[in-house]
Amino acid sequence: MFISMRWKAIALTSLLLVGLSGYFIVASEQALKRLLESERQEIFLNYQNEIAGLLRQSYDHLLQLSDIIPILQLQNTDTGREVSDKSLKAIIDQHWSYIALNWGMESALLFDEKGLLQGKWGLGASPRSSDVVIQVLQTGAPFSRLTCFNVCQQVVTLPILAPDGQVMVLELSTSLADTLRAFQKITQADIGLLVPDVSIRDMRVVTSWSRTLAAMTNLERSMDMLQHAATQVSFDLLNQEPKVFQKNGHYHEVSLVSLVTESFGDAHFIIIEDVTDQHQHIIRAKEADIRTALTAILLSGFLVIFALWSPILRLRRHAEVLPILVAGDFTLLREKLGDKRSRRLFKDELDILDDAERDVADQLEEMQRQIEEDNVQLESLALYDPLTKLANRHLIFKEIQLAVKESALTEEYFSLLYLDLDNFKRVNDSLGHSTGDELLKVAARRLQASVRDGDIVARLGGDEFCILIKYMKFKEDSARVAKNILKVLGEPIHLGTTEFNISASIGIVTISEHGVTTEQLLQNADIAMYRAKAKGRSNFQYYTKSMSVAATERMALETELRKAIAEQQFELHYQPQINLETGKIVSAEALVRWIHPTRGLVSPDDFIPLLEETGLIIPLGEWIIHQAFKDAKRWNGLGDDSVNIAVNLSPRQFSDPELPRVIRDAMLSSHLQASQIEIEITESMVMNDIEKSNQLLKYLKVLGVTVAVDDFGTGHSSLGYLKKLDLDVLKVDRTFVQDLPDDENDKAIVAAIIAMAHELKLRVVAEGIESLEQEAFLKSHGCETGQGYLYSKPLPYEKFLGLLRRSDNIIPFQRSK
Ligand code: C2E
Ligand code: CA
Ligand code: CA
Repeated sequence: MFISMRWKAIALTSLLLVGLSGYFIVASEQALKRLLESERQEIFLNYQNEIAGLLRQSYDHLLQLSDIIPILQLQNTDTGREVSDKSLKAIIDQHWSYIALNWGMESALLFDEKGLLQGKWGLGASPRSSDVVIQVLQTGAPFSRLTCFNVCQQVVTLPILAPDGQVMVLELSTSLADTLRAFQKITQADIGLLVPDVSIRDMRVVTSWSRTLAAMTNLERSMDMLQHAATQVSFDLLNQEPKVFQKNGHYHEVSLVSLVTESFGDAHFIIIEDVTDQHQHIIRAKEADIRTALTAILLSGFLVIFALWSPILRLRRHAEVLPILVAGDFTLLREKLGDKRSRRLFKDELDILDDAERDVADQLEEMQRQIEEDNVQLESLALYDPLTKLANRHLIFKEIQLAVKESALTEEYFSLLYLDLDNFKRVNDSLGHSTGDELLKVAARRLQASVRDGDIVARLGGDEFCILIKYMKFKEDSARVAKNILKVLGEPIHLGTTEFNISASIGIVTISEHGVTTEQLLQNADIAMYRAKAKGRSNFQYYTKSMSVAATERMALETELRKAIAEQQFELHYQPQINLETGKIVSAEALVRWIHPTRGLVSPDDFIPLLEETGLIIPLGEWIIHQAFKDAKRWNGLGDDSVNIAVNLSPRQFSDPELPRVIRDAMLSSHLQASQIEIEITESMVMNDIEKSNQLLKYLKVLGVTVAVDDFGTGHSSLGYLKKLDLDVLKVDRTFVQDLPDDENDKAIVAAIIAMAHELKLRVVAEGIESLEQEAFLKSHGCETGQGYLYSKPLPYEKFLGLLRRSDNIIPFQRSK
């Protein structure tokens, strides 16, 4: 449960104040009570003294009277003269009315020296009087006592000398009522006399105390009070100390003063005093105390609230602000905190807290900003290609995943284009990575520009790109995009002074099949891209299922080829080239064979393209060059006539910067004459980069090596470049020869090629001669050299050597049947 600190502080202080005030009230009340009690005690003592004083006064009064009586004049009633014979009895007789009235006497008894009663005046006398008289006669001292018979009296028995010289005893009784009245007059307190005897007639009995009220001032009222007191407290208890009783809104204190009477033993004066005023005084004092305390509590409560209010408000603000800080809502936080720092002279904890809060907020905000910045950076690192700023593999993966899901829900088509720049590696290898990077950036920009905004272009790595094309009306739209890309990419690129031409091969897969994973989609697009590459680059191919089969086979083949290279399962066969004029073997073309452990002899058409694609042709090609040169050197050492060696180069080999070194090394290690070496290249190899090709050709020329254009007529067949390039031989492709001499077209073409070659000072080799008619046609048009099954199939080294021996190469070549 949440109780604000404010209320806790206030409650605590109030509790403290209430406790303290309570304590003070009780303490002051107690003090007041004690004061009052001691006051009462004093009053009580005063009462006792007062009573004693009054009794003594009354006693003195009696003594005084006893002195006066003997000297009173006695007059003869008849004559009115003074009588000389004076007896006390006579004096008292004559003056009794005076004595009773003026001296308040109630009764008097006169005894002679023998203790015999001589006279009696007034009412009642103590039955014990005779005993007392004897005692007084014996001691000669007056004896005073209190008696209550019908009424209570103070009685003094004293010796008296009569005028006649006789010693007598006089007993004077005066009513106590006067003493009590006097007491009441002096003290304003009612006083009475309580005696144990309950049998006295006409007296009021206080039943529960078993006492009788012998005399009482204000009898009715006092009796009422006493009856009430008797129900509240026992007599003994009251005897121990005075008690206060409340009745009808009045407080009376009742106290007892014990005295010994002749007749009753322990009689008590009972004093009833109205103490209402004092009590009210106490109550008023108490009320005043409480009022003061309450005021103090209220005041200090206000003070506490006043003092705590501001810090508590600030604390509450902290309580509001800290959760906002935790939530990281810095704008709201700043709003709440305000931007002014405390400039107080005397800072307190709250000021420190305030400042710290601001500092923490600032630091947190800065940290959060930093983290966000880093996150953006990390994200871009994680999802974008740093070079081209295109999406990277991860991002396109995610996008493809989304596209797969989305394509299932929409009528529209999604396509994935897998794009690989053609011959990019060559640029990179020969011109350096920075040029390569620049080219990649240009390519990336062009790709991005040739698709719509929602489409995604990604660089997968190296020169491979992937484009996700979304929301197409027709499947075929992707072909339009691909065509456009090829066109845009094909435009020349100027980097510095150099002009570059790039092209790409594109594989396309339509995202429509359910249950195809992203990886599979990419793989299929990749397969289609390879097919495009195989189809001669700078084109696009849609993926078909059969491609996958082919791709799988290709992969298996690749594995086998790697193994074949490692285990040297290759062999070179040689096919002779014949001088059509002399019939002599002038040259031999080296043709590679794969001696497969299970499939036997595998044709180069079945594995050269894959070797080329995978780059495995480089190591194998090097071996072929070395082996061919070595073999040629061997057979040239045997006969007198020289038989040249012709070696085929693949496109990759031709663009391999290592090629010149490889040829030179092979020449050096084989000691073969450069003039005996022919290198066969194709038109397309040269066309890719004419500048570079020219350099290489010039280098070969310098070495003294002959260069032949293979398969002439199948490729671009641009006559223009033939003029520019330093070439020696032109090999007419087999396809033109095979239908000779029947096909008129071929006849015209072949005749034209030969004529043109001669025009350019090139020697002509006709491939695939299988018949004498073909040979005759070619010969008639001036073709110098022939190659074909008519003369010999490609033969293993030993057999080729046999062929050389058989023909001895000095007699005209014996045609194989
Ligand atoms: P190519 O350079 O045009 O080689 C000539 C091809 O024609 C050889 O096929 C040969 O056996 C065949 N041939 C020769 N005379 C006749 C004929 O009268 N009739 C018919 N029908 N064919 C004839 P092969 O050996 O199967 O080679 C095929 C292709 O493989 C070669 O075409 C060449 O492009 C490539 N190749 C072969 N060996 C190598 C090599 O060592 N390196 C490279 N880079 N490519 C090679
Ligand atoms: Ca060839
Ligand atoms: Ca050829």
